[in-house]
Amino acid sequence: MIKIDEEIRKKYKIQPPPQNIIFEYGKEDIEKYMQEKGFIIESVHSINCLEEKIETVLQEELDFYIKEEACEKILEHCHSMALKGKEAMGFLIGDVKYWEGLYSIVYDIATASLDASPVYVRFRREAFEEIFDKLDEISYEYVMVGWYHSHLGYSSFMSSIDLDTQKKYFNQPFHAALVVDPITREMKAFRLIENECREIPYAIFK
Ligand SMILES: [Zn+2]
Repeated sequence: MIKIDEEIRKKYKIQPPPQNIIFEYGKEDIEKYMQEKGFIIESVHSINCLEEKIETVLQEELDFYIKEEACEKILEHCHSMALKGKEAMGFLIGDVKYWEGLYSIVYDIATASLDASPVYVRFRREAFEEIFDKLDEISYEYVMVGWYHSHLGYSSFMSSIDLDTQKKYFNQPFHAALVVDPITREMKAFRLIENECREIPYAIFK
């Protein structure tokens, strides 16, 4: 679980994590899950990616939960962009709660105009305005719990550029980075813990 002190703990709702898990990373195969959801890309032209891979160790404890609808939106976005030969990116909207330790939940996503290529993605300048408009429409109190982006066929990992993004914009202990490869059918989650990048397990729930 995410380490926090007593002061921080008081800030968060105390509630047990979601129980109706339909997929748990490490126990089941995400490739099979993505196939079942119909996110399949047949033609694969290999992309030469020069991004430097950050070596990570998988944390044992589960403290990251993704609502099924949000997961489907993420996979759909990454899949449709991949069909155009482009990377996808967006924000993870959710909440942070406390139960024996801190954990985060993704309820929805927000994304906007992207400048994207097979090996590159970033938000256009007007994108932030679009995103903030979308965030204004959310009626519940939310927390930005991280971001997601895709890799096209060079597998799911944190690159040194991804890590820079994480350190710059998502440096809270509950901030996650979800990296989806719709071609190799992988989805991995990472966090910055004590300035070190760690892979974390996740669960998709109903
Ligand atoms: Zn990346």
